[in-house]
Amino acid sequence: AAKNNGKNQFSYFTRLMDERAHQRLRLINELRMALELGQLSVAYQPVVELATRRIIKAEALLRWNHPYFGNVEPAYFVPLAEEAGLITEIGDWIFREAAASAKRWSGALGTAFQIGINKSPIQFLSKEQDTWVEYLREVDLPAQNITVEITEGLLLHASSEVCERLLEYRDAGIQVALDDFGVGYSSMSYLKKFDIDYLKIDQSFVQDMEDDENSRTIAESIIVMAHRLGLKVIAEGVETLRQREILNEAGCDYGQGYLFSKPLAAPEFERRFIRNEKPTFYPH
Ligand code: C2E
Ligand code: MG
Ligand code: MG
Ligand code: MG
Repeated sequence: AAKNNGKNQFSYFTRLMDERAHQRLRLINELRMALELGQLSVAYQPVVELATRRIIKAEALLRWNHPYFGNVEPAYFVPLAEEAGLITEIGDWIFREAAASAKRWSGALGTAFQIGINKSPIQFLSKEQDTWVEYLREVDLPAQNITVEITEGLLLHASSEVCERLLEYRDAGIQVALDDFGVGYSSMSYLKKFDIDYLKIDQSFVQDMEDDENSRTIAESIIVMAHRLGLKVIAEGVETLRQREILNEAGCDYGQGYLFSKPLAAPEFERRFIRNEKPTFYPH
């Protein structure tokens, strides 16, 4: 009976895997069409200065509203886009959207408003031409309005092409943020080699810091180290007032998270944070 059961289970799992594989292929095909069909959009999440509670910038995050599945997570579909060779097209699209928002919002505020855009290692390694700097010149947007968010995996084995690209960004004036810091290799030796502007503490440390002394110590140490190296620190995934307080006491510069705001569609972001007359943007 046990053997039989095992066999049934085996065929159940292979069937499940087939379905998964099938669903992945289907989603890849639908992703090819998603841009054209207007199913992709950008959500903007504010980054807040912890000491003053003012919004200093925003991060642009991809959204895919699928007709049957609803919202598909970027953590799921970005790797699919990479695998299918669609990431340059999609990455360029969100870049242009975000650049347009940065331009509009800077105009409305009368001062530069910066937007961060994620760029995965696969995007950097793509053979397709990188047109970001050129595009900023075309639309006459100062590169200071753009931050590119990279992960440390890119820097660990950076090829000469990757180094050149980063230098090109740097020369143009695009700032660089190191995303998800603390969960990867964290070899940190690359921090002295590359010119980085922001370090983003991974949300796992922030989420544990209220109860876990170690997470708190790690976050505090990252902040001290980053400041010594001349980097500004952004804490990701700030959800509670207590986390904000701990981070502020530890000298963390900025925070991003549901406590301040979820990522919002452009019109709502604009209504709440750009055209809002109140100088202080969130109530806590
Ligand atoms: P990320 O760059 O680290 O983005 C932060 C993620 O944390 C976002 O998830 C955001 O919605 C989420 N988040 C913000 N505040 C909170 C909070 O208080 N609590 C919790 N639990 N989560 C919070 P999202 O939008 O699902 O994106 C996931 C990842 O997908 C991003 O991580 C990024 O690596 C990738 N991604 C998103 N958009 C793009 C894109 O345009 N290009 C590329 N290459 N990757 C992207
Ligand atoms: Mg990011
Ligand atoms: Mg990330
Ligand atoms: Mg992150």
